[in-house]
Amino acid sequence: MEVKEVKLVAHHVFVVLLAASVRTQVNPEMCRYPLGMTGGQIQDEDISASSQYSESTAARFGRLDFDNGDGDGAWCPGVTSEADGLKDFLQVDLRSLHFITLVGTQGRHADGMGNEFAQRYRIQYSRGGSDWVDWRDRKGRQVIEGNRNAYEAVLKDLEPPLIARFVRFMPVTDHSMIVCMRVELYGCEWLDGLTSYSIPDGHQMIYRGRDVYFNDSVYDGASAERLTQGLGQLTDGTWGLDDFLHSQIYGMWPGYDYVGWNNRSFPKGYVEMIFEFDHVRNFTSMKVYCNNMYSRGVRLFRQATCYFRSGPDWEADPVVFRPGADHVSQAARFVTVPLGDRTASSIKCRFHFGDLWMLLSELAFQSGSAVYNTSRNKGHPTSLLPGYDPTHKLDDSNTRILIGCLVAVIAILLAIIVIILWRQVWQKMLEKASRRMLDDELTARLADQTRAFSFHHSSLSSEEGSASTSTYERIFPLCADYQEPSRLIRKLPEFAQSAEPVEKPEAACSDNAPHYAEADIISLQESSESSTCPVTAVNISLFAGTDSSLKEFPRNKLTFKEKLGEGQFGEVHLCEAEDMQDFLNEDLCIEGNNMSPLLVAVKTLREDANKNARNDFLKEIRIMSRLRDPNIVRLLAVCVDSDPLCMITEYMENGDLNQFLCNLRLRQAAEDRTEWEEKEERSMVCDRKLIGMAAQIASGMKYLSSLNFVHRDLATRNCLVGKNYTIKIADFGMSRNLYRGDYYRIQGRAVLPIRWMSWESILLGKFTMASDVWAFGVTLWEILTLCKEQPYSQLSDEQVIENTGEFFRDQGKQVYLPKPPYCPDKVYSDLMLSCWRRNAKQRPSFQDIHTQLVESLA
Ligand code: ADP
Repeated sequence: MEVKEVKLVAHHVFVVLLAASVRTQVNPEMCRYPLGMTGGQIQDEDISASSQYSESTAARFGRLDFDNGDGDGAWCPGVTSEADGLKDFLQVDLRSLHFITLVGTQGRHADGMGNEFAQRYRIQYSRGGSDWVDWRDRKGRQVIEGNRNAYEAVLKDLEPPLIARFVRFMPVTDHSMIVCMRVELYGCEWLDGLTSYSIPDGHQMIYRGRDVYFNDSVYDGASAERLTQGLGQLTDGTWGLDDFLHSQIYGMWPGYDYVGWNNRSFPKGYVEMIFEFDHVRNFTSMKVYCNNMYSRGVRLFRQATCYFRSGPDWEADPVVFRPGADHVSQAARFVTVPLGDRTASSIKCRFHFGDLWMLLSELAFQSGSAVYNTSRNKGHPTSLLPGYDPTHKLDDSNTRILIGCLVAVIAILLAIIVIILWRQVWQKMLEKASRRMLDDELTARLADQTRAFSFHHSSLSSEEGSASTSTYERIFPLCADYQEPSRLIRKLPEFAQSAEPVEKPEAACSDNAPHYAEADIISLQESSESSTCPVTAVNISLFAGTDSSLKEFPRNKLTFKEKLGEGQFGEVHLCEAEDMQDFLNEDLCIEGNNMSPLLVAVKTLREDANKNARNDFLKEIRIMSRLRDPNIVRLLAVCVDSDPLCMITEYMENGDLNQFLCNLRLRQAAEDRTEWEEKEERSMVCDRKLIGMAAQIASGMKYLSSLNFVHRDLATRNCLVGKNYTIKIADFGMSRNLYRGDYYRIQGRAVLPIRWMSWESILLGKFTMASDVWAFGVTLWEILTLCKEQPYSQLSDEQVIENTGEFFRDQGKQVYLPKPPYCPDKVYSDLMLSCWRRNAKQRPSFQDIHTQLVESLA
């Protein structure tokens, strides 16, 4: 997730949670406590009626669910209700202002003796006791459907809720019917103490051809130019949605939840509101629920300036508050305006426009330590009430808000941590699954292999131990065959989160992208006998792990002839080696070459090479010294007593196979080639000389695999061509011994021959004999195309890695190298393609490959 996205989400969550925390003003869903008709908290003297049928049906008997007494089971009016029912009422004085959300009614049952009930009724209410307001629902209807029988209590939500001290129940009946009622009121004490607000009536917006009304549709005071002496939508406990076109309440018109004003109608740039309270209070804050849909020209108020009055005049020094514009979230929210503990019975606030429109949905005041529903309402809430919680207290103090904010921040942080952890777990599972596959395939096979080398581990380990912390990167010739794959692998979705290469092998195992380093491989496989003694050119312990027949050749007996090429360590020279044949013991003697001086290739370590390069050079010497095979280039002697370090190998007259085949192709194309050359080339293809060359490579690789030896860089460029198309595998700079029966996991950063590498070598950093088989398939392809082009030449490096990803996913989208023109069908389908099987276990062994190639030559 982008940081920006996280911030935005965090902001939204914060706003929502903040809103939830401040939802403790008056929450109609929670504010549903029985106010004491049933429970008795409302005293008899506070229950009155317009009339009573008899003393036994007096007002005080009009308590819901209250049958035991000396009465006849309900309040019944004295005279038959008039048609409009206006005259009869049962009145309850709650002694203070209450927020009433629910009413309940019941008829007179009297243990089966009574059967009178009110089918319909109306509600009137008053805050002061003198002015009475008819309650209306949001659609303006006054009549409430009441009871159907004499015993069942029927509860009705008041939508909108009302704020009052006095409430009247007024049965609506016809002449013939006698009604009796028992009632209950539900709600909570109105701690705001607000008795009325005075505001300019809301405006109408035309939004995309739709009428949007922002009037205060449930205002219960007087309506003239301003709305006065009443309460309405700003105190109805319902808060608007972010999108003001939609309403919390089903079926209402666009803009219903908000009271709003257009800036253009207010030359002074603000809307003035006056709030009257029941008595002088000490105000801590005011919360204003505002819309902030700035994309439609609606914003939070820019500034609130509030004046206070306890007596006849407004005090001079107002409280000024600027909330700061929010350009990030369009969420509607409560804005808390601190009122600085000012004392007043009236407050006048000027809300300055932040944009063209200002929309408010709710207002609440905190004064002193207001706690909802704990004061006089000691009644037991009925179990019929939804959301009942007897221990519930709504605390409006700032501490609650602070706790809400902290909870919000913690929730966001936890959410982010969970997301991060989830992603990591997912990636590890993916990696484990793929690695397990390979492990199953390869570990068993490799573990069974016999040890072929008998060199001393301790001396080896000392060298590798010293190199394991190396950051040395092999210096490859500037050749497009080698790439640094880690960078490219991260573009694959499965490996996108991979971390930077790490130093520790364990860490490398748990990371997605493989890490490739050159200097620390054997340290993973060798025993812990390692010492930290670094290897130097004069450190003769080097030879503890080399073939004992390999000797130091006198440097002065080498005569430079020509430069053959340049490799990763330095230059390769053709030299005459005087008395070489005598120097070599029988084992190393080059058959059929009795020339003296003998022509040899001398690979020299460049003088400016660092310690790690030197260690690698010595490592290659050690590896090559133990290899004896007609198809492996032979190391004859070394010059390591002094710098520059040299290794002397047999000379291969025709250079490397890649160049050799390229030249052949060029000569083919040339017009002036001789007849002999033409014949030669034709025969080469026809006589399947190319296959013969491949068979020799397979033979050399068969030998290496018998030693559990992984070459890791098999390609035509690393094979040398001698006389009579003799092919020998060279360049063991990247190769490692696998005699421990494990695979290599390489780490660090290095350039690698990605076009020759198996998918598991690239993606998982695993080099095995099976991955050498993969590389052999590519080498065979090179040979049969006469090295005309690089493998996958039409693909960029990124695409090669993507293709590797396809091999990994195995959904049939991977691209294979095409069949070369000279390649027999059988060789392509039975051999080449089998080298690139996804499952390493299903790839042929070099033994199989060699057999197949030899058979195809027969
Ligand atoms: P690298 O290490 O980059 O694979 P090398 O150092 O082995 O390369 O060799 C560089 C070049 O020198 C080879 O490409 C090849 O042309 C030439 N070369 C190396 N060894 C021999 C050899 N024994 N006989 C003939 N040419 C050689």
